Amino acid sequence: MSLSREDILRELELLPVWQLKVPLPNPANEAVNAPISENIQQVVTPIQEALPAPIVETIISQDTVHTETRLDETSRLEQINTLDWQALQACVQTCQACGLAQTRTQTVFGVGDNAADWLLIGEAPGAEEDKRGEPFVGAAGQLLDNMLAAIQLNRTNNVYIANVLKCRPPENRDPQGEEVKQCDPFLKRQVALIQPKLILALGRFAAQSLLNSVESIASMRGKLHDYHGIPVIVSYHPAYLLRNLPDKAKAWEDLCFAKKTMADLQTIQPPQL
Ligand code: URA
Repeated sequence: MSLSREDILRELELLPVWQLKVPLPNPANEAVNAPISENIQQVVTPIQEALPAPIVETIISQDTVHTETRLDETSRLEQINTLDWQALQACVQTCQACGLAQTRTQTVFGVGDNAADWLLIGEAPGAEEDKRGEPFVGAAGQLLDNMLAAIQLNRTNNVYIANVLKCRPPENRDPQGEEVKQCDPFLKRQVALIQPKLILALGRFAAQSLLNSVESIASMRGKLHDYHGIPVIVSYHPAYLLRNLPDKAKAWEDLCFAKKTMADLQTIQPPQL
């Protein structure tokens, strides 16, 4: 049995292919006044251009024929590394790189100031985050907001909050290796674009995956680590603190350490050219 390109794309639910009915207006701000249906097409086109073309293969094994879609691993990484903030957001929104794309309500890209000095990184969206599309909005998020307020910060000013995974693992199970591998280039690109002065890793999973380590939180706390040249401080996950109130005192120590580190980093002058 031979399948046409259209059959294969339909099977993969990649049809219909979005196409502009009219050429893009020039100057760019005409798009703002265009009807919503035209704007959707204009938004979709750059996303498709930003992504490497999927390689659609027809696999014939014994008596069965099926198709597989995969992105060329190297070009996916290279392309993600070139995306600007908006294109990166669009790329995450449409990502199909792992099975979580089938179970998520929506992706959770991150929230805050995308030129922040502080970058906070958690594990993955939970149920509430999956519903609302924003990280740390459940009970743990409320505690995180209180922790930030205690060091005169908030999630909209000089702080950016993201997760290792952009999609919720079903039933809040632990993220799997392949999911982390596929999502990792997105976080790396976020870090490269934000260029934070300091990263605060929230919880064992975020800390271990950022630092490529199997150490416990207890042994990682209280030290300065490094993520591609950016200092990292490790602390407890707010959801853990909700269950283990006595450890809040240790989290407070971590925040004080982070605050002091940031103050030191902010006084370091960039080299004069
Ligand atoms: N836990 C996380 O690690 N991230 C969220 O966004 C919510 C809960």
